[in-house]
Amino acid sequence: MSASPDNAPLSTRRRNRVQVLDALRSSGSASRADLARRTGLSRSTISGLISELIADGLVVDRAETAGVGAQGGRPGALLSLDRSAGAALAIDFGHTHLRVALADLSAEILAERELKIDVDGSASAALDAAAKLTREVLAEAGLGLEDLIGAAMGLPGPIDRATGAVGSSVILPDWVGRNPAVEFAERLGHPVGVIVDNDANLATLGEARFGAGIGASDVVYVKVASGIGAGILLSGRLHRGAAGSAGELGHVLHDPEGEICRCGNRGCLETVAGASTLLRLLQRRHGPDLTTRGLVELAVAGDVGCRRVLVDAGRAIGRALADLSNVLGPERLVIGGDLGGEDSSLLDGIQESLTRFALPAVLGSVELVGGKLGSRAELLGGLSLVIGDTERLSSARMGSTR
Ligand SMILES: [Zn+2]
Repeated sequence: MSASPDNAPLSTRRRNRVQVLDALRSSGSASRADLARRTGLSRSTISGLISELIADGLVVDRAETAGVGAQGGRPGALLSLDRSAGAALAIDFGHTHLRVALADLSAEILAERELKIDVDGSASAALDAAAKLTREVLAEAGLGLEDLIGAAMGLPGPIDRATGAVGSSVILPDWVGRNPAVEFAERLGHPVGVIVDNDANLATLGEARFGAGIGASDVVYVKVASGIGAGILLSGRLHRGAAGSAGELGHVLHDPEGEICRCGNRGCLETVAGASTLLRLLQRRHGPDLTTRGLVELAVAGDVGCRRVLVDAGRAIGRALADLSNVLGPERLVIGGDLGGEDSSLLDGIQESLTRFALPAVLGSVELVGGKLGSRAELLGGLSLVIGDTERLSSARMGSTR
């Protein structure tokens, strides 16, 4: 099928292409009849679009290529996205780690790397490392920079969506005023589109699409680690707030007489329930070298002190989550991060406060669960953000092939 030079039919065709690509992405593989059913487009429109997408190298017909029909499968049943259609990259910066993952357009991971690094201390060094790991994952998958359809980058701080700049002067001091998307693309020496977002937002998308949030459209995800951050999914869409600052759950007031927080306020939730506070509370019993990982392992093994600080931290977080739940009415609360998930103590404490402080109607409709993706939630959310950006994919391909 040849390209239509006029705009109106092109935009309809582009919308239809996006719909078909979307349907293939969410189902993994499908027949032409499946696609017609899922998109509401006619069989003949689907046939035309599929021929075009196959010609463009975006879709493969596995029944044709592998003779699956002859083995009893439905002829033409196995349409799927072609690996050569491109790859998506996700980068997750924590305060002390960097993770990079490369995936095909069905979100299947092709290669992955992790590095311990002081992300807060030097933005330049962290971005250098991200570019290096990106080249490594591409090489491992046998792909080049030109195969990237886009990248998502998560940072543990508020991101100004309009400018892409890191917004807060206190959370990530060395990153302030920088534009990580631009600097990263410069380091790669390739004009790859980079979406930068808060790490808790990416983790929220990850859990919502692939983990503990599947099937729910109103989800609050809470990342409990050295900091405490939340992602808010309303009617299936992330709520980022005016300056990208929504979800700073760690900085709601817990104790007006409490410690001064790193944000400058007093008695924030993070000062009583963040990992560094919990480790300090356990120093007398476990010494100064206890790590967050060690704390969780000890709690799982039944250490009374470790479980106690987790239950108390959970009560404090649950107090804030009860208020948030009364206001937003989410159907699911997902607790992730280094301290969420594995040991039940934190969730027990949260449930206690929810039971005490949430309205009965709210309590009856909200489900509290641990995260399922662990430390990979941010990466998977980032990948889904890139892969879900079908307009970009379809436009890029249409531009390059026509
Ligand atoms: Zn604070």
